[in-house]
Amino acid sequence: MDDVVAEALRQFNARLDVFDPAPGPAVASVRVGEQVIALRAPVVKALTEALLRYQDPRDRGVCDHCGGPRLDDNFVCADCGRPSGVFGRLLAERVSRYEPPAELS
Ligand SMILES: [Zn+2]
Repeated sequence: MDDVVAEALRQFNARLDVFDPAPGPAVASVRVGEQVIALRAPVVKALTEALLRYQDPRDRGVCDHCGGPRLDDNFVCADCGRPSGVFGRLLAERVSRYEPPAELS
């Protein structure tokens, strides 16, 4: 796994080098296992912005009731167990009214 991370950082460095003919010296470094990857200022700036902007695809906001950050695909909170938001309430109402087809009974 170290090699995957180190290679991704090297490729990121290379991609940004294209835009900076005189990129300047390394201002930080990252140790990945035994490897040390030097990072120049434009790379640190871009990497920091990318990390701060990243939103996990599983991030569906916070629960209306407890503020917990873990809502499932049905917008049910993993912390308090209540459906959150309009979508959560609609899904919960639909589920409560759902009657399975006779062939499944
Ligand atoms: Zn909650």
